[in-house]
Amino acid sequence: MILAGFITASEELEGSRLGIPVARTHQSGKKQRPPLLGCARVFDTHCHLTFPDFAGRTAEILAGAAAVGVRGAITIGTSSADSLHARDLTLANPSLWHSAGVHPLYSDQPRSWSDLKAAASSPKCLAWGELGLDNHYPNPPRDLQRRVLDEQLEFIERCRSELPALNKPLVLHCRDAFDDLLAMLRQTSFPPSRMVFHCFTGTVDDARKVLDFGAWISFTGVVTFASAASVAEAARICPSDRMMVETDSPFLTPEPMRKIRPNEPKFVVHVAQKIAAIRGLFGPDADRFYSELDRNAERFFGFTMP
Ligand SMILES: [Zn+2]
Repeated sequence: MILAGFITASEELEGSRLGIPVARTHQSGKKQRPPLLGCARVFDTHCHLTFPDFAGRTAEILAGAAAVGVRGAITIGTSSADSLHARDLTLANPSLWHSAGVHPLYSDQPRSWSDLKAAASSPKCLAWGELGLDNHYPNPPRDLQRRVLDEQLEFIERCRSELPALNKPLVLHCRDAFDDLLAMLRQTSFPPSRMVFHCFTGTVDDARKVLDFGAWISFTGVVTFASAASVAEAARICPSDRMMVETDSPFLTPEPMRKIRPNEPKFVVHVAQKIAAIRGLFGPDADRFYSELDRNAERFFGFTMP
């Protein structure tokens, strides 16, 4: 499957390592009024505060998020070294948690399963991942991605059978690879209810496959892009108790802030507001929806927000 035009050329350049959609967008040029920040309390379930854009700025970024009512964030590991870095960032920041995993587009980088286990053993590590498959780019080759994913899933199964504290949910990266990834996940003993397909960019059929499988879906700023009608439709049909919101920052700044780089956890508010509007929820109904998103994140990741 080729994704239709969601993303601008410069966003493609920024996002190429993380596997966001690459086709060019056709901006409507329409001016939108920014929604009021601070009317919602939401949580950014997926960002990358270890990336160079944020070097030395973790506390500042989190303070900016708190100022508009964002309760905190999970910074996601993309390699064993990055997962240790993510863990270290959480130590001085009470509203920050992290994950531990090897991203498919980093399958060709050096990795250490013992470092990954050390990162996952931190009490602030809420999940394994992000891990998965990315069929969009020719490299790393698909067979290498599959081999590393297989190895990683086996490693995680071993960890969680050894130690109940390592029995954490999975954050999945899936781009143009729903059938391949679902087939691999079906071979494991992980319950689908403990898997989230993050940064959903598939078709409505893909969303149905993920939901029928029993997994969760998490939406980024892509849902705010005028060109991403299929993602908006997926956000409309997804059961409210199986969805979460995220920024995937520094990438994918949501509308109406799309021109601002880098994206930051504070902009997750726009993702939540857009999905509420897509679902026809406004005022107190939207507020109840934002609270449900927070409860979903607490339930999925097994923690309590500040
Ligand atoms: Zn990510």
